Amino acid sequence: MNWDGPDTGEPKLDEEDEWQLYASAGYASAEVVTETEGIEEEEHEEVWFDGDDLELTGAPIDWDAPPCPAPLGIAHIIRIGACDHCLHRLAGRRTELPGAPGGEEIRIEALARDAELAKFETPDLCPLCEDLFDDVGNIVSRVVESTEGIEHSTIQFGIHLPKDLIQEEDRIRSRHGAPASRPLKAAFVDAIQNELSGHMPNVKFIKERPDLMILVDGLTLRIDVDVRPVFLYSRYRKLSREIPQTRWPCRACRGREDGCESCEGTGLQYLHSVQDLIGEPLRIALNAEDTSFHGMGREDIDVRCLGSGRPFVLEIKNPKIRETDLDKLVSTVNESAEGKVEIDSLRWSKRGEVRKVKETRSEKTYTIRLKVDDIPDENTVVKSISSLSGVVLEQETPKRVSHRRAAKTRKRKIVSISDVFVEGDEVQMTLRCEAGTYIKELVHSDEGRTVPSVSGALERECEVLWLDVEEIHAD
Ligand SMILES: [Zn+2]
Ligand SMILES: [Zn+2]
Repeated sequence: MNWDGPDTGEPKLDEEDEWQLYASAGYASAEVVTETEGIEEEEHEEVWFDGDDLELTGAPIDWDAPPCPAPLGIAHIIRIGACDHCLHRLAGRRTELPGAPGGEEIRIEALARDAELAKFETPDLCPLCEDLFDDVGNIVSRVVESTEGIEHSTIQFGIHLPKDLIQEEDRIRSRHGAPASRPLKAAFVDAIQNELSGHMPNVKFIKERPDLMILVDGLTLRIDVDVRPVFLYSRYRKLSREIPQTRWPCRACRGREDGCESCEGTGLQYLHSVQDLIGEPLRIALNAEDTSFHGMGREDIDVRCLGSGRPFVLEIKNPKIRETDLDKLVSTVNESAEGKVEIDSLRWSKRGEVRKVKETRSEKTYTIRLKVDDIPDENTVVKSISSLSGVVLEQETPKRVSHRRAAKTRKRKIVSISDVFVEGDEVQMTLRCEAGTYIKELVHSDEGRTVPSVSGALERECEVLWLDVEEIHAD
């Protein structure tokens, strides 16, 4: 079973939720209490009743085998062959010891009351658990074995048991078990955890956001260990105009592992990416398998990102190490990515922040340099461009992204334009815009798809020479 599924680059929230449901199934049902209090005496004129009128969870009460903790009930589950584990959890008696030794205590008491009990032929397998608890030791050693060398402080268990076993157990327990008897799944998890804590005294067993999720198949005894990812938050500055934010597979070979001629065997369209310049040193430090990069938006490859940088969360998958000196890693990243990418700090994050980062829309400030055909005098240029400050743009989906974005018209505000100056036939300025403004289109008008535009205001053809994200106003 593969819990990570195909990598879509999206946070796998739904999948995790699903797994949580599955993993917690045993716990949830543990809270179901057998409803013996639900029986009400019927207020008929007749006070006679023979017992058959009463129903307990849909079945007539067997007066020879009432629910535990009645001694007859305990005798009944012994007669049908309950193992000591199941006897303990169904009997509803306080015992000195938990689990099987507690069950044995109850069995000895019951035999002392009724020596006949020992004479019953019991089936080979406990009808409640099919001797599942015999496998606890085996499961525990497999868990110990398969988690060796993986740093973790919390574990969550998920148990998979055959449906018919669960149903049969539920039927016997609700009819003969004491109120609030622990169901099989929950009791089985308890037994595993109890024994495992002897091997892992510092590990906590929890029901959400564990370091390791361990799925146990009660039928095949297969153990699956899912090492949950770790998340790191920071902001990056991109100092180069030749680097994409995320890893791009080679177009020719689609990122084949051994690459092709066109990508010189790298499998990559661009050798470097922000994702790998930052992610690789971290992946190596945490002895992990791969990374996913979740940025608060992205800039084009040829756009630098300066100022305090762009917020992102890096997801580090299948890490063998979960604790490390983050300040040291900041230096490692900055040294190896020198001149291309920089980060100021790193802090631990969590999956929830991925969504937050991806959904945040912030105003941005840009510096932009453009070339103007047949440029008018400086005064006219500055005046015309400054007149766009405060204007609301209408932008049709740009031609260059129309293959992947729905066609629609967006209204975006130019918050301010400042520091406009002219050098020969080039103009430079600072722009602050609402989130989601297409800046290049604002300059050249995208053949009239953006109105108004710098090109329109100057009545000239304009060409963007370069563009920097000066600040992302995210806080
Ligand atoms: Zn049993
Ligand atoms: Zn290639």
